[in-house]
Formats: sequence, structure tokens, C-alpha cells
Amino acid sequence: MKEEVIFKSLNGNGKVNGRRHPEAGEADGFDAMGDHHIATSIETPLRKDAFELTDNQKMEIISEKFREILEALGLDLTDDSLRGTPHRVAKMFVREIFYGLNPENKPHISVFENKFRYNEMLVEKDITVQSFCEHHFLPIIGKAHVAYISSGQVIGLSKINRIVDYFARRPQVQERLTVQIASELKKVLKTEDVAVLIDAKHLCVSCRGIQDDTSSTVTAEYSGKFIDRATRDEFLKYVNL
Ligand SMILES: [Zn+2]
Repeated sequence: MKEEVIFKSLNGNGKVNGRRHPEAGEADGFDAMGDHHIATSIETPLRKDAFELTDNQKMEIISEKFREILEALGLDLTDDSLRGTPHRVAKMFVREIFYGLNPENKPHISVFENKFRYNEMLVEKDITVQSFCEHHFLPIIGKAHVAYISSGQVIGLSKINRIVDYFARRPQVQERLTVQIASELKKVLKTEDVAVLIDAKHLCVSCRGIQDDTSSTVTAEYSGKFIDRATRDEFLKYVNL
């Protein structure tokens, strides 16, 4: 096996968090899946016509639908404080928090020749991750730690942050986010020697459901030389995990 993906949920004491949502047992299949945060595919599930509408058309539709949601909740949209909310939310969805859905927004990454002949591991740690759980549309906030061993190509350090941000800014599950970042880095750097580890808090776990405020979720993908225990341990030592 060339790749290994590790998923585990840790609470504050480092114990595996095996508790279930109290309603998960009785809930229908959709609820149960959301609470277990299962990813179904490495690709973000997009419709075939996902980019036929312009951003402005999408914002208009979302604004109208969000107005309906607020009204269904019984809110008075003629109130000055709420009047602009549907438009603000629509703009935020399309332009900010879900900009990474559109391949046109993918960061352009140029690679350079590894002139220093630096053949050791390069680690970039504590990269901010701000994403949204696709089961509840609540924030996933955490850190990504990324490493690669150059096969002759290197990229600018800030480009790693941009790749992480691009894939984070979609409705996500953490496992898929981890794999998408790793797969993009392998493609750009033309090497299998890539490691990606994400440690993040899910607000859908802390604010609702089980309401566990201390747990965080760790996902990791190791491929190429990082399958090797010693290389992986060196990476984990650098990121203090
Ligand atoms: Zn969730």
C-alpha cells in the first residue's frame, strides 16, 4: 500500500472519543451520517452544471433563499438590523467562505528548481485552517502541518498556505480536505513524498449534538517516504505531535 490515511478523534485527555450523538440511534440515515462525519469520496460532490451560473446569479438566488429561511424562522426582515443579512450571507458564501468550490479560484503555483540541493524534509507547520463542515455548515477551525521531500522541485512557502486555504474554503469533511491537499501537493511537486496532518475543532461537535468543547479531530495522510516509520516520526517530532 502506497498511501495511508489515519483518522482519529481525540478529546482533551488524548482518549479516543467514542461517544455518539444521543439522537443518532433514532434519527434517519441523513442525521446519522452527519453526526458521524463520513466522507463518501475524495472529490467534492459537485453538480455537472456547478459553474453555469455567474457568481452574481448565485448570490441573487442564495440571497432570496436565505431570506425565506429567516422568514420561516419567524424573523422580521423589515428590521434595519436584518434587512441586509440575506445579501451579506450570499456574498460571504460565494466570494469568501466557499470560494474554493470554483476551480477558477485555484491558486497558480509555480515551481522552482531545487538549486540548494536541499534534500531533507521541509515542514511547514501551524497553517491556519478555516473550513465548514458540509453536514451542518458550521466552522471547522484548526491547524494543518505539511511536509515534503523535494524531488528536484520546490514551491514558495506561502503557496502551501494558499493550497490549504483553497481546499478548506468549501463545504468539507476533514478527511477529504486532508487527502485533497496531499494530492494537490503531490501533483505540483511531482513527488509522492508528502505528509499532511490536520488537527481541528468542529463547531458542530462543540456547539450542538454532543456539545463536547475539548475534543479535536486529527487526520493525516502519509505517502511515499513518509510511510516509513522513522521519516514519519521525524515529521511528527517537528510538529510536536
Ligand atoms: Zn458537522
